[in-house]
Order: sequence, then C-alpha cells, then structure tokens
Amino acid sequence: MSETEQNSFRKRIIKLTIKLIKMSENLDPFSIAQQQLYNACKIVGYDSDIYNALSEPERFVQIKITMKMDDGSLKTFQGFRSQYNSARGPMKGGIRWHPDESASLVKALSAWMTWKTACVDIPLGGAKGGIICNPKEMSNRELEILARSYIRQLADLIGPSIDVPAPDVYTNPQIMAWMMDEYEKIIRHHSPSVITGKPLPLGGSAGRSISTAKGGVFTIREAAKDLDFNLNGSDVVVQGYGNAGSWVAKILHDDFGCNIIAVSDSRGGIYNENGINPYEAANHKERTSTVVGLKGTKELSNEELLELECDLLIPAALENVITRENADKINCKIIAELANGPTTPDADKTLFEKGILVIPDFLCNAGGVTVSYFEMVQGYYRYFWTETEVFEALDRVMTRAYRSTVKQSKKFNTHNRMGAYIISLERVINAMRLRGWL
Ligand code: GLU
Repeated sequence: MSETEQNSFRKRIIKLTIKLIKMSENLDPFSIAQQQLYNACKIVGYDSDIYNALSEPERFVQIKITMKMDDGSLKTFQGFRSQYNSARGPMKGGIRWHPDESASLVKALSAWMTWKTACVDIPLGGAKGGIICNPKEMSNRELEILARSYIRQLADLIGPSIDVPAPDVYTNPQIMAWMMDEYEKIIRHHSPSVITGKPLPLGGSAGRSISTAKGGVFTIREAAKDLDFNLNGSDVVVQGYGNAGSWVAKILHDDFGCNIIAVSDSRGGIYNENGINPYEAANHKERTSTVVGLKGTKELSNEELLELECDLLIPAALENVITRENADKINCKIIAELANGPTTPDADKTLFEKGILVIPDFLCNAGGVTVSYFEMVQGYYRYFWTETEVFEALDRVMTRAYRSTVKQSKKFNTHNRMGAYIISLERVINAMRLRGWL
C-alpha cells in the first residue's frame, strides 16, 4: 500500500469508528443522569454555570472493606457513598448491595435522589451508597460484618442532620438495624434518625416496606384518571419481582381489580393472559428463589415480557431496560417506573412520540423516601403513626407531586420526566440561591 492509500485507509477506519460510537447508545448511568439534567436546563433556559453547579456530587467517597469470610478466606469489597446535594436539607438515599454496583451508578442514583426529594417536596437533599458484592451468596454473619464495617468507614460523614442512609436493592431492615447500632456505638448515644427503613421495634415506620409500591400506585391512579381509563380489569406487566414489584402487583390486584398478566425476575418471566395470582407468584419465588416455573404460566424472557401488549407496564428492577433498541416495540398506555433509571433519554423521545404516558422514576418511586422522611419525623418526636395515617399522608404528597409534574410537562410541551426535572431543578436552584451558593 502506498502512503496515500494507507492514509485514506486510516481516515476511513476513523470515520467508521466515529459512526459506530454515534450509533451505539451510551448506557453509562451517570452520563445518562447528566444528559437528562442538561436537557432540562436547556428547556428552562438555565445557563452552563447552573448546569456545572449541579452536574457533579458535592462529595464522593470510595472505601475498601477487607474481612474474613466464614470459610477463613480474606475478601476485599469496594464501597461508595455519593453525597449529591444538600441545599434543601440533610442528604438522603439508600445503600445498594449488588455485584453490578459501580461508582457511576452510585453517582447517578444520588443525583436522582436529589431530584426525587425535591419533586415530592420533602425537606431533604440527595445521596446514595453501595457496595459491590453478592449478598445472595453471603451468610448472615458476613452481611453483618459488611454492614458494620461500611458504617465505621463513613460514620464521620453521615448523621441525622448530614446524610441519612436507607435500604435499596438487596439491603433490608435487618441490615439497617446493624448499621444504626454500629453508628450509635461510635457516637455513644441513641440516634435512630441516622438511618431509615429500620425494623418497627427499633423506630421504623408503619408501611415503610410497602411504601415504594403504595406511592407508585397513587401516581398510577392519577395517570389513569387523566387518560380516562378504568384500571379495573386492565392488563398489567411487572418487570422485577422484588419488594417493590411484588407489592405493586398485589396492591393493583387487590385494590383495583387489575389483571397481572406477566411478571419476571432476574431468572426470567412468566405469562398467563388470564391473570397470575400475585400471592402465588410471591410464594413460588420465596420457595424456589424465582417466579419462573409457577404452575399454569408460560415462560418468557425479560425482553419478551417488556414488549407484551398491556395497559400498564411497570419496570421494577434495575436501570436501562427500555432503550433505543426496544422503545418502539413497547405496547402499553402507561409506564410506571418503580425502578430507578429504567428508561434511556433516546427511549424517552420515542415513548413521547408514541403517546405513551410515562410516570418517571423519581416521581413514581418516591413513596419509599417519603415514608423514610415520615420515619425521621416520627423518630424525632418519638410518636408513631398508624399505617392508615402514613398512607393518607403519602397519598397527599404523591398526588400533589404528580399533579405539579403534569402541569409543568404541559406548560413546556415535553414529557413527564422533563416536567418532573423542571419542578425539582427550580426547588434545588432556589435553595442554592437563597444560601448564596449561586
Ligand atoms: N432506596 C430508595 C430510593 O431509591 C429509598 C431511599 C430512602 O428512603 O432514603 O428511593
């Protein structure tokens, strides 16, 4: 090859690579969170200085936990806490224990927590934590050591008026109890409001364990009203059958007469057009660790499940499940995002064009952190509400947030995710301005 031929060959390769990069969708969670923020700033007309002031966490900490496992081996885990924004109050957000946890994901989740607490207008900021691990393969003793070690590393950086952790994927009330206990041992006095999602006897709130699902259902009820469509007898698909997914299926089935036609978990999905009993699916999962194999159901993959024709589609597992690849094959009236980050910005555009009503994640799943806030309030004055009182208050918060989101999306002629961003940004920016940060 002559030198000119070599040069033109090189140029063609570079052009092709750039084309390929442009073609593939960026699925990095924090890039997505930043892109959403950028789009929202553009719609409202906030300049780049404002974007820059909001596009990174205030503080990001990476820690290392080395511990002896039950079999005598040594294992080292990586953990994170991302404290995104504290302008509106103490930062708030769960701790996720998952093999696919990453620094980027924790940062994205902490940004979404900031917009979430602002969207439902509770006086808190946003944060998130995580450890890269597989709790399903760990003993109780190992989980307890991991929980206590995490808190020992971060004790100086958290606290009821600094940053208040909570459960998230694969963490639970027992883990919160160990964490609270470790924190109290370090500071040598009681401080139950350092953490939420605690067991009831240690200052947890009634209704906290089903609050994410319950809050989501209040927004679904409002969305159905807007579309003038009857939830009774409607077909529902739930992707992810953990705490939020299984509860939303049960509530929609019991309180609204919905027909749960398909549900799934990480091992796959099940389908029955005449309806699946959500309690039987939960019991089957309890016994066998998966919903797959439930009697009277047909097996299908998570991908197939998302494309089923239905009225209501509920992603209730992890991020990036509705992407540029499958958005135009989604066949439903409403998407209620109980998961954090299930839809990419490209998919958002397609869904909007198709006229699908999306209840965006940080609005739809805000019931969890709202009841966490109620837990903090009850903890402060040591007086506890009944479940009915908790859910009445939750209904008021969720309905108000849903209504203001829809109002903003109509005003700016955009989809509900941007509508929710617009409200949240205004609140966070206002608090930052009042403090003199901007
Ligand atoms: N992990 C939940 C969320 O993503 C709850 C957070 C909290 O209660 O602080 O919203």
